[in-house]
Amino acid sequence: MEMPNLDALTTFFGVLSFVIGAMVGSFLNVCVHRLPQGLSVVRPRSRCPKCENPIAWHDNIPILSWLILGAKCRNCGTPISWQYPLVESLTAALFFLVYWKFGMTLASPVYMLLAASLVLVTFVDLTDWTIPNEVTFPGVPLGIGCAVMAMVYPESGLLLARPLWSIVGVLIGGGLLYGLDLLSLAILKKRGMGFGDVKLMAMLGAFFGPWGVLLILVIASFFGSAVGLTLILIGRAKDGAEDAGAALSEEGDEEDDVMTPGGHYLPFGPYIVLGGIIYLFFGPEIIERYMSYITVPGAI
Ligand SMILES: [Zn+2]
Repeated sequence: MEMPNLDALTTFFGVLSFVIGAMVGSFLNVCVHRLPQGLSVVRPRSRCPKCENPIAWHDNIPILSWLILGAKCRNCGTPISWQYPLVESLTAALFFLVYWKFGMTLASPVYMLLAASLVLVTFVDLTDWTIPNEVTFPGVPLGIGCAVMAMVYPESGLLLARPLWSIVGVLIGGGLLYGLDLLSLAILKKRGMGFGDVKLMAMLGAFFGPWGVLLILVIASFFGSAVGLTLILIGRAKDGAEDAGAALSEEGDEEDDVMTPGGHYLPFGPYIVLGGIIYLFFGPEIIERYMSYITVPGAI
């Protein structure tokens, strides 16, 4: 069988997407550290946090430098977190997958930007317990703008081509999470979600529409409760062991099970992001399949 000529080009752009993704991931690492502190993400150049030695360009090559340097600063030997290569390889893989799925369309750069934003949101939420407004505020109009673009230009490859559905997605996405927050406040007398989660879901609603956010919420809740329950069970087991050791101790009993040592709730943002990524690659197919079940009841 003869291979079409296009394959060399496809491979080239696939590799290029991966490399660009790794470079963007390297920049995201800077953002993860500096955005929550309100620092500039452009200046100054990256330094070792310990010895403050500026990092040379050849020691700042995504993924590779971390491996070559053996996860240590060249100057002072301070360990460098595995979070750096993780963010870089995740972003690289997502860029590659976006190109693989959407090819040479307008959708590819748009969804690469979205994927990069979601990686940033995940790691800021995991480390700082916030979701940066720097992502969600521009994300909403950008998502609506994309729906307009997709309507005008049908070959864009974008998943949502109806501006009205994009706006409805913002309202339903934000509204659903805001509702959950109020419900949690009423029943548990505690805030369930941060307002950052509300804005993140509104942003995904702008990109994926109302069906999109509904599916994302289902996926996020599924993985969120699976992980949450596991942690609660582990916590119970640990509490049990502690109780056996110090039966008379009354301290610490008021701590909530799903609270982390820092007294925060487990962040929900990363699960919303996971839902968003799954939707990006499989969402329309899942919804189409689901719709075919509910619109033809009893067809068998
Ligand atoms: Zn150093």
